[in-house]
Amino acid sequence: MADLSIVDDDGKAVTLDPVEAVGLLALTDNFDSATTSACPDCRSRVISVVALADLLEQAPPHARTGEILELADDAPTLHLYVLDHVALCTHPRWRDPGHEEWVDAVAPPVVARRRP
Ligand SMILES: [Zn+2]
Repeated sequence: MADLSIVDDDGKAVTLDPVEAVGLLALTDNFDSATTSACPDCRSRVISVVALADLLEQAPPHARTGEILELADDAPTLHLYVLDHVALCTHPRWRDPGHEEWVDAVAPPVVARRRP
């Protein structure tokens, strides 16, 4: 079950199941130090590629770290977008320009690609 996806501007995504998502958010302190803009009501956010790479390199290893670093390495822009699949949130209180950028990146809905 998809819980959280990390998406780049081309729509490439790493999708985590609930256990992986909880683990990764715990290891990275909810991507706090890499977040440039976030919804106050759910886990959707915009993160800096460079700060994320630093964060993941300093955090204890996670099963999906390699894939996420690869996504960050290949990202066409300076940002990645975290998409919360389970929050029934329309982000009414997320009102900075990062939200527009996030909407552009994640819509139309991303078709999650998982590696075998
Ligand atoms: Zn939200």
